[in-house]
Amino acid sequence: MTDSDTGKKAERHKRRMQQRKEIVDAGVAKALEERGIAILYTGDGKGKTTAAMGTVTRALGYGYRVVVGQFIKGAWECGEKNLLTGLPAEQFSLQWFEMGTDFTWETQDFEADKAAALALWEKLSAALADESVYLVVLDELTYALNYKWLDRDAVITAIENRPREQTVIITGRGAKQYLKGIADTVTEMRAEKHAFEKGVAARKGIEW
Ligand code: ATP
Ligand code: MG
Repeated sequence: MTDSDTGKKAERHKRRMQQRKEIVDAGVAKALEERGIAILYTGDGKGKTTAAMGTVTRALGYGYRVVVGQFIKGAWECGEKNLLTGLPAEQFSLQWFEMGTDFTWETQDFEADKAAALALWEKLSAALADESVYLVVLDELTYALNYKWLDRDAVITAIENRPREQTVIITGRGAKQYLKGIADTVTEMRAEKHAFEKGVAARKGIEW
């Protein structure tokens, strides 16, 4: 490549970057509304809960108050919980709630599951009404709704009426249209491949 070719290439790159910057700047200038948002991570690909937990660390990193609720049955160990609930409470404000640990996937008892989900929802709906909470995570909420453990209208109302500055993150496979409708940001994780299909076991510290 001659010096003149290199110069032209550099010039083209600079022009393209300038154009891109103008587009981004115009977008930034238009985004003037300051408020919390509703985020939905759904789909059957990996990454929904980890994306939610990544955002929890962001919020905590700025000293914001965070409430996490997990609609999963049974005692559930996960690395994020081990780390985040161990942070010094004087510095980081995090509350972590789960469905009762007496209930496991082995017990196929609808009423018991529903009672456990409702007990968790009571704590989370209080967080969704609390102005001091900056971020609420409703992990695997889609199951609690799809199994009809929770009243769909009550959940929608609580999410829609939450404080203006509060962000809520919902995760779980199979989100229905009504959840997509109330969310501001919806990301569908698509499973192009998953190691599990090759017979690779879920790994500690990676999958949970
Ligand atoms: P992660 O917790 O890793 O972010 P996720 O929240 O997107 O995953 P879930 O649908 O909640 O995934 O599934 C829970 C578990 O199943 C996790 O251990 C996850 O890694 C694993 N998993 C996610 N997607 C798939 C898939 N397509 N096939 C098999 N296992 C999966
Ligand atoms: Mg998950």
